[in-house]
Amino acid sequence: MSGATAPLVLEIATEDQMHTFGVRLGSLLIEGDLVSLNGPLGAGKTTLTRGIGEGLEAQGNVSSPTFLIARTHPTASGTPFHHIDAYRLSSPAELDDLDIDFARSISVIEWGKGFAEGLSESLLTIDIERDLETDLRTLSLQGQGRFANVAEFFGEH
Ligand code: ADP
Ligand code: MG
Repeated sequence: MSGATAPLVLEIATEDQMHTFGVRLGSLLIEGDLVSLNGPLGAGKTTLTRGIGEGLEAQGNVSSPTFLIARTHPTASGTPFHHIDAYRLSSPAELDDLDIDFARSISVIEWGKGFAEGLSESLLTIDIERDLETDLRTLSLQGQGRFANVAEFFGEH
């Protein structure tokens, strides 16, 4: 067992709330942090990532990297921010080919499941469920390293 605590569950009613939560999360991220975002197309992964970029004061537009696998943005703190979309990657070896130094950067991987595990000691996994009738998004957060006690992490910040 990983020793991780129970997931923290958050309900997000609107796109604005998703963005705002991203800004808050982004402002808390530090070098070495990796965030894995999971959930179907339209779940809000890119919306959340855009907020994270804003919280990090990242330069450039954070957008859905449709044709790119990864995009790197300089941030206010000097730590590079990598936004990765693993949708088109068929194996973790392909991600390895990008030569990203996860320990020396802050990274978000959309469709991270199966790719993000083992890349960094500090991993926050966010699974997003989408209610097609109400637009409500239910986020389940779990982590390791400094995110191991995820409820405490967000409770204290
Ligand atoms: P993904 O990257 O997971 O495919 P996007 O962030 O690109 O998703 O798109 C999410 C879409 O869902 C946007 O068009 C947004 O306006 C819409 N949306 C509706 N309700 C919400 C919500 N509660 N949270 C996030 N996005 C929402
Ligand atoms: Mg996306």
